[in-house]
Amino acid sequence: MIKRLSVAILCLLFCGLVALPAVQAAEEKKPAKATQAQAEEKKPEKAAPAAQTEAKKLPKVTILGTGGTIAGSGGSATQLTGYKPGDLTADQLIAAVPGLKDFADISAEQVANIGSYDMTTEIWLKLAKRANELLSKDTDGIVITHGTDTQEETVYFLNLTVKSEKPVVTVGAMRPATAISADGPLNLLQAVAVAGSKEARGKGSLLVMNGEINGAREVTKTNTLQPETFRSNDLGFLGYVVNNAPVFYRTSLRKHTKDSEFDVSKLTALPKVEIVYTYVDSGLDALKGVIAGKAEGIVIAGMGNGSVSSEMLKVMKEAVAQGIVIVRSSRTGTGMITFDPKKGDDAGVVAADSLNPQKARILLMLALTKTKDPKDIRRIFATY
Ligand code: ASP
Repeated sequence: MIKRLSVAILCLLFCGLVALPAVQAAEEKKPAKATQAQAEEKKPEKAAPAAQTEAKKLPKVTILGTGGTIAGSGGSATQLTGYKPGDLTADQLIAAVPGLKDFADISAEQVANIGSYDMTTEIWLKLAKRANELLSKDTDGIVITHGTDTQEETVYFLNLTVKSEKPVVTVGAMRPATAISADGPLNLLQAVAVAGSKEARGKGSLLVMNGEINGAREVTKTNTLQPETFRSNDLGFLGYVVNNAPVFYRTSLRKHTKDSEFDVSKLTALPKVEIVYTYVDSGLDALKGVIAGKAEGIVIAGMGNGSVSSEMLKVMKEAVAQGIVIVRSSRTGTGMITFDPKKGDDAGVVAADSLNPQKARILLMLALTKTKDPKDIRRIFATY
């Protein structure tokens, strides 16, 4: 009997304890009648139309799709290599990013849909011309979805040929859109947020991935597979994307965009410039081949501070005498190439400043649209 009684008391106590917070919570959720009435009093009859438009005014961002892994698809969620880049359209990428439309008034155009190893100077000219056209009107910023393999080249080309303070941002992904933990959607959201921001104006073309904002001149792909592949090496990236807004810490002092002297508006092609790599025992066939192939300019990916073998130096000097412009860059990946008469600079070879070979090629192509004079080309390499 006593036992039964104590079980009943315990049960009463336990049920009471459990029930109490639930009831309390329900009470808290139920708005007191007075509070509800007060809230209704505070609700404005109708927001003024002007204020309504003000609150909804989003930056106008145009996405130019070119393909790449960000638009890539594989056979399964676990396929991380060997997938097909450039498979989905820019519209499909937009549809896959929740909330993107809260950040900008977005429209999309498909300029190409390729792996960026198939990028061409012809597509660059299309991109630069379209970006200039859009930014001269009411577009506030441009995002270019792009493969990562040559993205550093495209962003530097646009940095030198887009004549606007408004942001041009390139973005890509290292995992295809179909992959587990695909990095494309967040990268795209952040790129749009940066492209539509006032903070990104006047900073040159930018590459945004992994919450990092890189300047066009320094950024380079450093890893074959990792999502954090883009680095700006010695000079560092410009800022972070935090909570989907840009935070800048630095800008480039080299000329770009609206201060650039290069005008591609009437060009249908760029001068032919090739790159020749150096190594122990490097033969001369490659260099002689590009000379025979009528390159107007050659970038040498030299050793260390832009050094080449004595044999190669001889052929380089002969090429300069024929009117071919030669720029010495470095295969090391970082550092400045300094003027050195013993490395051919006395004969008119030009040191590439701190541009890597593929970026030195872009600047040389644009320089050759204006001049062949080594002195002028030296000035250009010290300026951009
Ligand atoms: N692997 C490349 C990428 O990351 C393919 C490309 O560059 O299009 O996008």
